[in-house]
Amino acid sequence: MAKMYYDADTNLNLLNGKTVAVMGFGSQGHAQAQNLKESGVKVVVGLRKPCDEFTEQEWNKVIEAGITPMTVAEAAQAGDIIHILLPDEIQARVYKEEIQPYLVKGNALGFSHGFNIHFGQIVPPDFVDVFMVAPKSPGHLVRRMYQKGAGVPGLIAVEQDYTGQAKELGLAYACGIGCTRAGVIETSFQEETETDLFGEQCVLCGGATELVKAGFETLVAAGYQPEIAYFECLHELKLIVDLMYEGGMSLMRYSISDTAEWGDYLQGPQIIGEEVRWAMQDALKDIQDGVFAKNWLLENQVGRPQFNALKRQNREHQIEKVGAELRAMMPWLKETK
Ligand code: NDP
Ligand code: MG
Ligand code: MG
Repeated sequence: MAKMYYDADTNLNLLNGKTVAVMGFGSQGHAQAQNLKESGVKVVVGLRKPCDEFTEQEWNKVIEAGITPMTVAEAAQAGDIIHILLPDEIQARVYKEEIQPYLVKGNALGFSHGFNIHFGQIVPPDFVDVFMVAPKSPGHLVRRMYQKGAGVPGLIAVEQDYTGQAKELGLAYACGIGCTRAGVIETSFQEETETDLFGEQCVLCGGATELVKAGFETLVAAGYQPEIAYFECLHELKLIVDLMYEGGMSLMRYSISDTAEWGDYLQGPQIIGEEVRWAMQDALKDIQDGVFAKNWLLENQVGRPQFNALKRQNREHQIEKVGAELRAMMPWLKETK
């Protein structure tokens, strides 16, 4: 059984007299910074210096939240704990230029995803603590649950323990953002990074979208109407996933018809057969060997030509056009882009 930590296992007072510099005010940054502040922690937020309307808006959002915005370099100097919530693919550059020069003995570097540490893109000096506190949910839910007096589950990991207190400090941080209200599981940077990449590639994003597309294309190729194929293969997926989220596969199977359940048991293993499992092993190996990370980092260095082409091709798929028309019939579905 995984090791779990709750509020009672933490000491928020460890953050007394310390300043937490949250770098970035995006999905995770806005949630974590505001939760920490409301937990009584001294917080500053590091951002790009306002240079246009967009960056000015970001700056103002921080001020409206009652937090002091600074440049990343200023925040790095002000912070005892520097929690990096910038997009993963730019963290290394910003770290080298605007954070690393200001690190002093006994500072802590925090992350909510292990990619840059695990794949060696950020190599911290040996005189700082390095921990991860990763909420297992999007930022807006981290904020919303905290405001309700609850929290979302999270992960904690320590990569480097200079002070001898890195884990306690990480747990105090997890308490400050509300995660230990729900429970925090101990992991490592390696486990979090590799499983996160595997999950999104093979199941949650890559696996799910391709399964939906394959089902849709099979029905349309067989002469069925695309609108009907859309409902059967995409729209209804949410209803099924919501049930699994709430009560596992058993609740989902309790709720569907016996005919659907029978087809599920019989066809599922045929569709996701040995070949898919081999492909998953290959994907996992590319993640473990750093091949995926290397390709993604190189893709970013050359301005994302393949990413952009794939994005465009996928946007133009028939299922997206049919879907847009059908969702217009269902104005209660709020589209989030
Ligand atoms: P977002 O893209 O939502 O936010 C990134 C923030 O960084 C924005 O405020 C952005 O400002 C700012 N930023 C971008 N470039 C710079 C720069 N050069 N200098 C200063 N600030 C900059 O990121 P997320 O919150 O999604 O991700 C942050 C971290 O959290 C990542 O490590 C991610 O893996 C992790 N994570 C994310 C989860 C999620 O649900 N989103 C879940 C769990 C972990 P601007 O808007 O001006 O560009
Ligand atoms: Mg991820
Ligand atoms: Mg049906």
